[in-house]
Formats: sequence, structure tokens, C-alpha cells
Amino acid sequence: MWPLFALLLGLAVGSFLNVVIHRLPRGESVAYPPSRCPQCGHRLGPLDLIPVLSYLALKGRCRYCHSPISPRYPLVEALTGGLFLLASLFYPPGVEALLVFLFLASLVALSFIDVDTFELPDPLTYGLLFLGLLSSWLLAFPLPFRESLDGALLAAGGLALVAGYGNLFLRRFREGKPEVPVGPTRSTWRPSSGRFWVRGWGWPSPSSPGPSPPARGGRWSSPTGSPCPFCPSPSSSPPP
Ligand SMILES: [Zn+2]
Repeated sequence: MWPLFALLLGLAVGSFLNVVIHRLPRGESVAYPPSRCPQCGHRLGPLDLIPVLSYLALKGRCRYCHSPISPRYPLVEALTGGLFLLASLFYPPGVEALLVFLFLASLVALSFIDVDTFELPDPLTYGLLFLGLLSSWLLAFPLPFRESLDGALLAAGGLALVAGYGNLFLRRFREGKPEVPVGPTRSTWRPSSGRFWVRGWGWPSPSSPGPSPPARGGRWSSPTGSPCPFCPSPSSSPPP
């Protein structure tokens, strides 16, 4: 009974994840408006929203305008249902199973948003971080709090290194949009001083007018004021 419940729950959550995957990167609300056909804009009824089965019954086409529906919708639903079913075999009903479901659902959403946009939205990543630390603090699940904190800081430090070296050597952020996985989101690596500088605290964005950063350790500073010394100036080359 429990695995069946987990499967049905996963299918329903997967249906919701389709909405999250579609709307979160666009900054739209995931709760409103109700789901519509992306082609004809017709509002979808309850019969159109039954996970997987609606897609099969309608043979992958919109009930109203008959335009094809992406097979990714039932795929996300089936994947989430399958993952929940698998998790239910390892975790009996309870808070721990619920946390695992939340974790899996977030990973599914993050994976597909990553495929679409090459970005991982902060609400999901920070949400997962907070959820993990909270559950380890309150329940010592999946790890005692100290170990969880160690793991989180280690991973954050490793990712910050990747971001810093990516900035330096891989010519990322040339469009003046630095990203740091954990910590202040508008900060960037300052090679000349060996420190992180946070936008708004004194280092102007290269895409916005403002004074150039002070030329400390001159060879790192580009004449355009771009934070990346190896990158072309933001105006001369569009981002790829
Ligand atoms: Zn339609």
C-alpha cells in the first residue's frame, strides 16, 4: 500500500514539477494562473492534468487545438513517480520519507531547469541547503548536524573555487553577470587583491556606468574596467 501511495504521490508531484520547471526560471508564480495549453492558451481541465494517463489518452496532443504536447511532461511525471516508489522501498512512512521525497522532487526540478537554462535557481538550491541543515539539526537525518555543516561548507568552498577559477581562466561572466554558488549572489572574484568583492560595496558592474575599479596590481586590471582581465569589453562582444 505504501509503495502504491508513494507512486501516486510522485506522479502528482511530478505534474506540479512540470509547472515549476516551466515557470520558475521565468520568474512566474507557480501557483497562478492555472495550467494552460502553451499553443492555444486553453485552460486545462482536471481530465487533462492526470499525470501520464492524460498524455496517453490524448495520444500526446492537446484536446482543444490538437497540437503535439512535449513527451517531457509525462516523462517528468513518470520519473518522479518512479523515484518516490524507489524511495518508499527504503524508507517507511514518516518524516524521513517526506524529506527524501522533497529532496528528490527538488533534484528533478533542478535537473530539468539546468538542462533548459544552464542555471540552478536560488530558491531551489538555497531551499535544499536550508532543508538539509534543518533536518540534520532537528532529526539528525540524514547526518548529525556537525557533519552536515561540514559537508555543506566543504561543497560551498569547492564550488566557490570553481566559480573563481572559471572567472579567471574560462572566460565566464564576461557579460558582467558573476555567479557564486553560495554566499552573496552579486559578488565576484577580484584577482588583483585576492579577495571577493561584493557588488554594491564598491565594485561597479561592467555593464553599468561607473568608475573603473582602482588599478591595484595594475597588470590584472583591464582598461575597460571589466572584472575579467582576459575578456573583451562587455560592449564589444555579446555573450555566447
Ligand atoms: Zn492547445
